[in-house]
Amino acid sequence: MSSDDENFMREALLEAKKAFALGEVPVGAVLVSDGKIIARAHNVVEQNGDASCHAELLCLQRGAKELNNWRLLECTLYCTLEPCAMCAGAMTLFRIQRLVYGAPDLRYGSRPIDSIEVTSGVCEEEAGNLLKGFFRKRRKSIVPACLPEN
Ligand SMILES: [Zn+2]
Repeated sequence: MSSDDENFMREALLEAKKAFALGEVPVGAVLVSDGKIIARAHNVVEQNGDASCHAELLCLQRGAKELNNWRLLECTLYCTLEPCAMCAGAMTLFRIQRLVYGAPDLRYGSRPIDSIEVTSGVCEEEAGNLLKGFFRKRRKSIVPACLPEN
């Protein structure tokens, strides 16, 4: 894990905190191209009433608009939680090169195809604690089975 990875993950965590403040499941993502953040997003499932409005997917869509190209070659996606099957599939379609994520998702987590380089566990504790705190608040002390216990 490089300090760059940690710095970009901190930006993704800021997005996750925005989601938390809005009552959304706190997951955030940033897309990095050429050492710069070109897109950011957090979950807006509740706000949009759309179960597919995941941080990762929105971030890829925004990145494609920003670059004016749906092929996000040489881009790295940072997300605070291991992506679900939908988002992992989208990463393949958008042709990203590398994925860096924080906490594992034991319930919905899905690995993208092998051509995408994956680094996991960056700022894992902070990302996981944010999620646990959210579900604890919402379900009053019941931590969902999808998250590892400390
Ligand atoms: Zn997803």
